[in-house]
Amino acid sequence: MDRRKFLKWSAALGGMTALTGGGLLHCVGSRTAQPPLRERDVWTSCNVNCGGRCALRAHVVDGVVRAIDSEADTAGHAATACLRGRAMRHRLYAPDRLKYPMLRVGARGEGKFRRASWDEALDLLAARLREAIDTWGNESVYLNVGTGNWGAVLSNSCSSGAPTISRLMNCLGGHLRSYGTYSYAMLEAALPYTYGGAWVDGNPITDVAHSELAVFFGNNPATTRMGGLGVSHDLARALRRSGTRLIVIDPRHSDTAATFADEWIPIRPGTDAALVSALAHVLITENLVDHDFLATHTIGYDEDSMPDGVPAGQSYRSHILGLGPDRTAKTPGWAEAITGIPAERIVRLAREIGAAKPCYIAQGWSLQRQANGEQNCRAVCMLPILTGNVGIRGGNTGAREGFFTMPFAGFPTLDNPVAASIPCFMWTEAVRRGHEMTATTDGVRGVDKLPSDIRFIWNFAGNCLINQHSDANRTARILVDETKCRTIVVIDNVMTASARFADILLPGVTNLEEDDFALSDYATDIGYVIFARKAVEPLFESRSIYDICAAVAKRLGVGEAYTEGRDRAGWLAHLYEESRRLLPGLPERMDDAFDTGIFRMRDPEAPRVPYAAFRRDPVANPLDTPSGRIEIFSKRLWDLGKTWQLGPDERIPGLPEYVPAWEGVEDPLRRTYPLQLIGHHPRQRTHSTGDNVDWLRRIERQELWMNPADAALRGIAQGDMVRVFNARGAVLIPARVTPRIAPGVLSLPEGAWYAPAQDGADTGGCINVLTTQRPSPLAKGNPQHTNLVQVEKA
Ligand code: SF4
Repeated sequence: MDRRKFLKWSAALGGMTALTGGGLLHCVGSRTAQPPLRERDVWTSCNVNCGGRCALRAHVVDGVVRAIDSEADTAGHAATACLRGRAMRHRLYAPDRLKYPMLRVGARGEGKFRRASWDEALDLLAARLREAIDTWGNESVYLNVGTGNWGAVLSNSCSSGAPTISRLMNCLGGHLRSYGTYSYAMLEAALPYTYGGAWVDGNPITDVAHSELAVFFGNNPATTRMGGLGVSHDLARALRRSGTRLIVIDPRHSDTAATFADEWIPIRPGTDAALVSALAHVLITENLVDHDFLATHTIGYDEDSMPDGVPAGQSYRSHILGLGPDRTAKTPGWAEAITGIPAERIVRLAREIGAAKPCYIAQGWSLQRQANGEQNCRAVCMLPILTGNVGIRGGNTGAREGFFTMPFAGFPTLDNPVAASIPCFMWTEAVRRGHEMTATTDGVRGVDKLPSDIRFIWNFAGNCLINQHSDANRTARILVDETKCRTIVVIDNVMTASARFADILLPGVTNLEEDDFALSDYATDIGYVIFARKAVEPLFESRSIYDICAAVAKRLGVGEAYTEGRDRAGWLAHLYEESRRLLPGLPERMDDAFDTGIFRMRDPEAPRVPYAAFRRDPVANPLDTPSGRIEIFSKRLWDLGKTWQLGPDERIPGLPEYVPAWEGVEDPLRRTYPLQLIGHHPRQRTHSTGDNVDWLRRIERQELWMNPADAALRGIAQGDMVRVFNARGAVLIPARVTPRIAPGVLSLPEGAWYAPAQDGADTGGCINVLTTQRPSPLAKGNPQHTNLVQVEKA
């Protein structure tokens, strides 16, 4: 289909967009437009976990995808694919594609398998599942995080377990739940103590156009929100329209700092809360705080607004001015020594923030993936709170930018009778010593103590079994111990690093081999669903996750309860009808929706301003906190910090104050491992998805970012092979010597596949060889940017 025909056909249908009920139906294809013979274009989607969601057009000739491209719509919003999406054909036809079911024959993790029939593999899977449930209970069955098929509705892999597998397990009596994510566990756990509720929203990025100044702490939408009708696109337009000044604070000169920002302020990792404390010191001492807002909408700012039962001297103002127990004023000079940012620049930044009315302050998720991540993300929220920028247009809460999610029916998982849940980052501990894990030691929820270790793992479309989980060498040691976890089932498209640890390895289809609905991810004020059509028949013996689960359900006597008499196509039709109740503008017939491609819907509440009602009248519209106000001091956290069992170098304070991180800038361990290592999102893959594709590897090399001063000290030149190491392992990788990373800091793009050599050193460039499984204090989340390392020329 060429563009001229596309435009002509679209025009014949009444223009590029046709208004249908509450939504806009954007025509990207047409039933009448199907080319004859066996050559056709099929609209499908890129379903990776990149923060966007793009439409892909597969050009299919004689049942083979010959090309993938994309197409911008003409309504001023791009949903066009990046090179990663356009490489989908390379993933579909990858040489390491899993072709048929396989059963492990060597030691676990060795990667030795034999071919099996589907019947043999599914019989064994069903028998092992029955064994786990009967012997150790339903709590022994765990659904590991998988984000490889993120956008799909029916074949969704999900951070808390794929809904298809979850439904199967719930038909069988339930499974051990997980909570939190590898992306934002600390933020999700901590910010509700400040603002209440389960999730703290932010103003949409488009609000930057109404701000005098925007300040991002570690936020990098140019890489992490680059696709679809998403944040990067909307930020570019907002800045272009308004000329708003943007400052990015980040240890790395990110793509956002490079392309959108007026200024980059490098900071040492894990010290954001110290910077905020010093900014607060200037705001308070120079009378730049919004006293009215603080008095009417917050508690804990000064000694007059503290909750009952807390000794004197614990207020935020006392803490910042050095009147609290530590008797240390959080001056810019104090912060310079910690953050590496000159005191003079801190003073100027505080004055800029204090003077900008309104000011849009947002944070990305990197600064909370730290050992002290809960404190960093709570601290950043103090800037809009102190300056009264919450609940107004052009302001923000200090959280990440808000987004709009269109309603659409999901695959029903049924109720899980198992009450217990663990932080998703703690699954290796639950394999090793689950029966010892409690609420106050390990963040177990739903029960005081776990009744069982994990004995059976489902790992669908995910690489957290080894690659994306911290301390890969330790994970490998835990997994190879067959006296612990009895069965590991992996369902994937290719032989990932995680797939090598399977006992039962099943070939799943890619999203080009099945129909599904793909929902927009982080879209600002236009949500959409891509009706993603099957482009080719499933390759080799691959099967959809639904069909696999239905077959296991049948073997275990719950087939009818699982399917409700529907096959996969029947469920799609059913979910479509359910969705039509939520979205009356959808075409009457599902086939018409698949033929037309994308259904878009503008946020009916745009422009959305979170907490606006609270801002207008905090008494009539209280927050969901114990006080009904913003809690600068959280009595709940204060109490929790006294009852939970924490390490000697861990604290959960009531205030959003700076707590030095273990393995942070102030740790004496720096005498052995002097450099701080962080990770960043690469351009050449999405997390670990696509690392097997040569075509993508050529977009950008896997390299260790290193400041010229640190390189010179070690005699390292551009492109030299280096060994980066700590007590947990070593990685061999070329050096990228660049001033785009702060001195004393290294960055290794996350997601490269774990490939240990004979001597144990990783040759794949996998950062998780160097990260720790020690969790953060409150969320028990993954501090994957808190690592001390040393580097030497290899
Ligand atoms: S990786 Fe993200 S931005 Fe790129 S095509 Fe896929 S969804 Fe779009």
